[in-house]
Amino acid sequence: MFTEGSEVNAMGRTYKTVTVMDIDFFNTSMNSFLRHIVYPDLANESKNFIVTANPEFVIETRDHPEFKKVVQSADYVLADGVGIVNAAMLMGRPLPERVSGIDVMYRMLDHAAKNGYSVFFLGASEDSNKKAVANAEKLYPGLKVAGRHDGYFDPADTEIADMVVESDPDIVFVALGMQRQEKWIADNIDRFDKGVFMGVGGSFDVLSGKAQRAPKIWIRLQLEWLYRLIQEPKRIKRVMRVFEFMLLHTPVIKHLLRMFGYSKTRPRGKS
Ligand code: UDP
Repeated sequence: MFTEGSEVNAMGRTYKTVTVMDIDFFNTSMNSFLRHIVYPDLANESKNFIVTANPEFVIETRDHPEFKKVVQSADYVLADGVGIVNAAMLMGRPLPERVSGIDVMYRMLDHAAKNGYSVFFLGASEDSNKKAVANAEKLYPGLKVAGRHDGYFDPADTEIADMVVESDPDIVFVALGMQRQEKWIADNIDRFDKGVFMGVGGSFDVLSGKAQRAPKIWIRLQLEWLYRLIQEPKRIKRVMRVFEFMLLHTPVIKHLLRMFGYSKTRPRGKS
């Protein structure tokens, strides 16, 4: 199920990745990632595709080989879930902390406002997108908004991508939901000369005030998924996948599953 982590060279530093179910997680803390990767990439106008993945996301890559390829094509995959951090710890290759996508987005917005980088907001409903942008401008005075568009369009229609390219953004946040957003980035990133691209899931809904983030105590108790489930009971099917991930990473159960020949994970490159 696990392979040894590979090495990634970034900004003159070497980082070991931690591989969980064929996905190479970047071994970093939030601060280090921002300071040593994102901020220099913005300053150098480098291109950078960031994926933030939680256990449900990893199970999704296992079940959708095309999606797995998209994720494996990203420059950095961050561990956006305690489940990933716990799994890495059980492997004896600990990751320093959970690096939550929404927090990375907030930190990048702050940095962008202070340093004159422009941001494109792509995704969520029209109302949520509009309010998210308005709130970002309030929270981060001076923020340059390169543009915005809701996430309900046909991805095959290149008009939206044309619009984003023409706005020449430094940062593109894409909130189209898991799979759709990563695919949009992978399909379009080559058309840009520069930019940090990140799929942000439901983060615009939180920024707009449409959805609430779990209170800190729920996060500390590792129950953020339960809080989201209470807010959106229709997520139950998705939450079951988190349990599947937990089962697959509980040592006793993992050994039993192996003993009985159950492992859906294929060797890298063979999916
Ligand atoms: N969304 C979108 N276009 C679509 C489907 C979804 O813009 O075709 C938006 C949706 O409005 C929401 C976000 O994508 O703001 C998905 O949020 P979710 O919490 O489901 O993110 P995930 O957990 O899938 O990353």
